[in-house]
Amino acid sequence: MPYFDHAATTPLDPRVRDAWLELADEPLNPSSIHRQGQRARALLEEARERIAAAIGLADPAQILFASGATEAANMALRGMAGLLPPDERLRVLSSPIEHSCVRDTVAALDDAGRIGAVALPVGESGRVRLDEAPRDRRALLCLMHANNETGVVQDVEAALEWKSAAGSAWLCDAVQSPGRVAFDADALGADFIVLSAHKLHGPPGIGCLAGPGVERLPPLITGGQQEGGRRPGTESVALAWAFARAVELAVERRAEAARHLAQLEEKFLRLLGAKGIAWRVNGDAPRLPGFLNLSFEGYSAVDLAIALDMADCCVSPGAACSTGVVAVSPVLEAMFPLDANRARGGLRLSFGFETDSSEVGILADALGRLIRGKATTARSEARKEPS
Ligand code: PLP
Repeated sequence: MPYFDHAATTPLDPRVRDAWLELADEPLNPSSIHRQGQRARALLEEARERIAAAIGLADPAQILFASGATEAANMALRGMAGLLPPDERLRVLSSPIEHSCVRDTVAALDDAGRIGAVALPVGESGRVRLDEAPRDRRALLCLMHANNETGVVQDVEAALEWKSAAGSAWLCDAVQSPGRVAFDADALGADFIVLSAHKLHGPPGIGCLAGPGVERLPPLITGGQQEGGRRPGTESVALAWAFARAVELAVERRAEAARHLAQLEEKFLRLLGAKGIAWRVNGDAPRLPGFLNLSFEGYSAVDLAIALDMADCCVSPGAACSTGVVAVSPVLEAMFPLDANRARGGLRLSFGFETDSSEVGILADALGRLIRGKATTARSEARKEPS
């Protein structure tokens, strides 16, 4: 079944599966003192070093493994909230375009009185407006690298400038970027970087929090000394090994993948145009290649996504919710506060490096049939009206 939802998750690369299975059968506990435990420790540290090298992080000790991006973001946000003395509150600057792992955690901490949340405005372009970010030494800025609904790459240079001028910290959810755009963790300059393997053709259940900020984080849970005492619980060496392979492959094939993804995008829009279908792209360049959020006048994204599913095409209306409940996208609502139709219409199409050129033809044909089908009905109803 043609799959156009790589922003939600990606198929496992067979080379990553091989890496995973290479270690899956072995008893590997890096905390054990025997030789098998030492082997586990060495493999885990090698995985950490390979991930650091692939993302451009000089110090592998600045990587903490976690179950995924949601846990990694929680580690950073909740950890930072707990660092200040009780009479001082961390100010957290963020916007509605952040993924719910940041958005909901900021809201929960704010409701509990543990931080002071400051909302940053978002332009119609899909970029967060950092010119309005207050400079405050006790602030943490949450600015993602590229948005998971529109693919819009954020102004990370401005975030680094803000951070340096304010003397404060920056959390960057970079889940969608490696493998699609050039990514260098040290050059980025964020204190915390969030990554997840399943967005990079790796397995779900492993991700990391990376960057110099991890060194001062307290643990969120108690029970062991793993990950320098900052993330207790036995590490999964096989998953870390698979994660390392996934990141390496994503970085190695990035330029080729980006070319392929841009060609798919161009072909898809050309085919839609040839069918006389009009659309609006939600979010301005720079965007991740192979990543489109489109609104079609008069169509709800949920209806289109359901109809496309029946036509054997997997796409998402806005963000895929973990519960299966689909609400109007807070990202598109923030971008188009006065245009509810556009926000409701945002259909997310995200191609992958393994997406075939013929598959985008299938998608364009299916969309063409749906849109022309409804347009015909609407016209025949309109013709009846005068009588
Ligand atoms: N951040 C972004 C930008 C995402 O797209 C996602 C997944 O949808 C996450 C965080 C959460 O990732 P995980 O499933 O690893 O918790």
